[in-house]
Amino acid sequence: MYARSNPGRPRRRRDILAACLLAACAAAALLSGVAAREEAPEGPGYAEKAARTVLISLDSCKAGELAPGGIGRLARLLAERGVLFAEARTCLAAETMSGHTSMLTGCTSATTGILGNGLYDPLRGEDIAVVQDSGYRNHATIFEILEGGRPELQSAFVSGKWRLPRFLAQGADDVVASPSSGLPMTPELVARVGRPWRHFEGDLPDAYTLRAATELLRREAPFFSFVNLAWLDRIGHDSGVDNHNRRRALRQLDDLLELFLRDLRRLGMERDTLLVFTSDHGMDSVSRYLNPRRILEEAGVAVRHVHAEGHCAFVYLENPAADLRRALERLGAEDTVEVVLPREELGPLDLDAPRERAGDLFLSCRADTVVRFKNLSLIYPGMHGGLSSQEIVLGFLGPGVEPRPGIHERAPGTPARVLAPAARVPGIEDLAPTLLAWWGMEVPEWMDGEVLDVLP
Ligand SMILES: [Zn+2]
Repeated sequence: MYARSNPGRPRRRRDILAACLLAACAAAALLSGVAAREEAPEGPGYAEKAARTVLISLDSCKAGELAPGGIGRLARLLAERGVLFAEARTCLAAETMSGHTSMLTGCTSATTGILGNGLYDPLRGEDIAVVQDSGYRNHATIFEILEGGRPELQSAFVSGKWRLPRFLAQGADDVVASPSSGLPMTPELVARVGRPWRHFEGDLPDAYTLRAATELLRREAPFFSFVNLAWLDRIGHDSGVDNHNRRRALRQLDDLLELFLRDLRRLGMERDTLLVFTSDHGMDSVSRYLNPRRILEEAGVAVRHVHAEGHCAFVYLENPAADLRRALERLGAEDTVEVVLPREELGPLDLDAPRERAGDLFLSCRADTVVRFKNLSLIYPGMHGGLSSQEIVLGFLGPGVEPRPGIHERAPGTPARVLAPAARVPGIEDLAPTLLAWWGMEVPEWMDGEVLDVLP
């Protein structure tokens, strides 16, 4: 009732949106993407079963950017030889830490307890901008599950983002992390790929990250590799989207991914590697900001704390019993605010966490507006976080992944193996259970995600 125009999205489990696949039907003989054209593999395209899985997270890649004009060759390859979902969604607050935590735990934000990049800890009175203490997350990752259930299988965590490994790489056998993470680089890796040049905030260029991932594949051939590519996110924050810099970054990323696929072929791994492409959130250009504290205090509402997460924020009031309604009405009157809801109504957004994490109310701004962070008036040209940046990419390529028509393109009588007519939109929390099922491992009951029927 307080939302201005979009009263929250329905809980995903109840979604009946017909997510469709972009994958086009093509005859087997024609199933050759760009990477396959130069050196067409002989015989059948893929092995019976993948020997390894590589999960590539294209940090901040918007759904429409894995497409012609953006990361176009990979998009065509996925459409011709794999599966590319037309619609998929990350968990709120559509941030790097929450997105990757949901990606690797199979849980929504409310379940993991990680609702953004950081959190407000009311007990300590501390606002953590980027959570690094893994004690704050409530569930294990698939690295930890693999380590516990199949310790003989090697795993690798390769991260361009400096902030991911300390929080999520526990259980991985090999970790490649920016020196800014505080984790050491192994001398062997330095000998092979050198020391990276870094963005001043600590993230690594994609060329370095992919080279490190390739070296690990060559040396260890891990059963499971997670690879976070950070540079698109850096370009987006530094210059916004829908501009020359972003488009150039997309083309460069397309080139790098093609080179990575060629390296897989040189290593003899192309036919028996399952590749999964996804992103943790989207990105929008920002032109204005919202200061919820000032707005509420001018309305006579005492604010204990505002925890900002890009386009959205969790607000703690001094006297919620007396002031909550007024706060919701006042923020709801702002034309930059898309949604504002009390904590009790956050179930449909999968944000119904305890007050310690979710505050008294949650607000999400329109795509061009970011919440003022502490006292900083400086904002990045590009930001994410909030409902406007929930759409992500999701694609699969490898043994047993077959191109199939999307539900909207499906000819009558063609079986739709992936999505039933009332299919739900796949979410980032579906990846962990899907991979565990594919690996023949039990999917824990505590996982919120569902196994996507995309692999044989
Ligand atoms: Zn991110």
